[in-house]
Amino acid sequence: MNAFASLVGLTTRAWAHVGRTGGARPFFDDPPPRPASKQPAIFIDKDGTLVENVPYNVDPALLRFMPNACEALHALAAAGYLLVVVTNQSGLARGLFTRRQFAQMQLVLERRLRREAGVELTDLLLCPHAPDERGRPTCLCRKPSAGMLLRAALRHRIDLARSWMVGDTLDDVEAGHRAGCRGILLDSGGETLWRASPLRRPHAVCADWLDVAQAIRTAPAPAGLGVSPPPQHPQALR
Ligand SMILES: [Mg+2]
Ligand SMILES: [Zn+2]
Repeated sequence: MNAFASLVGLTTRAWAHVGRTGGARPFFDDPPPRPASKQPAIFIDKDGTLVENVPYNVDPALLRFMPNACEALHALAAAGYLLVVVTNQSGLARGLFTRRQFAQMQLVLERRLRREAGVELTDLLLCPHAPDERGRPTCLCRKPSAGMLLRAALRHRIDLARSWMVGDTLDDVEAGHRAGCRGILLDSGGETLWRASPLRRPHAVCADWLDVAQAIRTAPAPAGLGVSPPPQHPQALR
């Protein structure tokens, strides 16, 4: 019996099980299961991108998917991307609807994605805050800030460098870039100001979700993630 085992009163036989997989494990719980490696994700804006933009809508009956969104999301999920919706919902701060109303609409949205696209949303994150009078975020989550994407990445072990943000405004593109992802503008008329900056320059501007899926599928690996051959030891060359 070793010193620690005798200190806590374990026999050698009981001690032999501590820390092993299987068998009696009196002290240590299994660590929570984690995927072996980080997964890429598609971060999806909701209004004007996933569904038609109906300002401050929480009525499930008014949910209309944007053209080909279901087909594209099905293909992207099949290609191994997690699907995460990130949405600014300042209607909450403005008192235009409640969390409960939003949650009911979210349930219908998730059920319809399951039925019509055959996909499961990994998560939906929302910013409930309002911007200031000049439209600037007053929190760390409202897009163009990256808070929701970063939180989702921690929560779901997302590989941000291999992930994409898809949205109908340059604020979405900027949020994606601030999180370390690439950004695609789905130009459905949501962007009206076109305020330019390097952070707001999309990888692609697409008119349709099928073009979005195609742009993602055919994009080269992000810089720094190329597969290089293992370094050769000089002696191995002889
Ligand atoms: Mg939008
Ligand atoms: Zn916020």
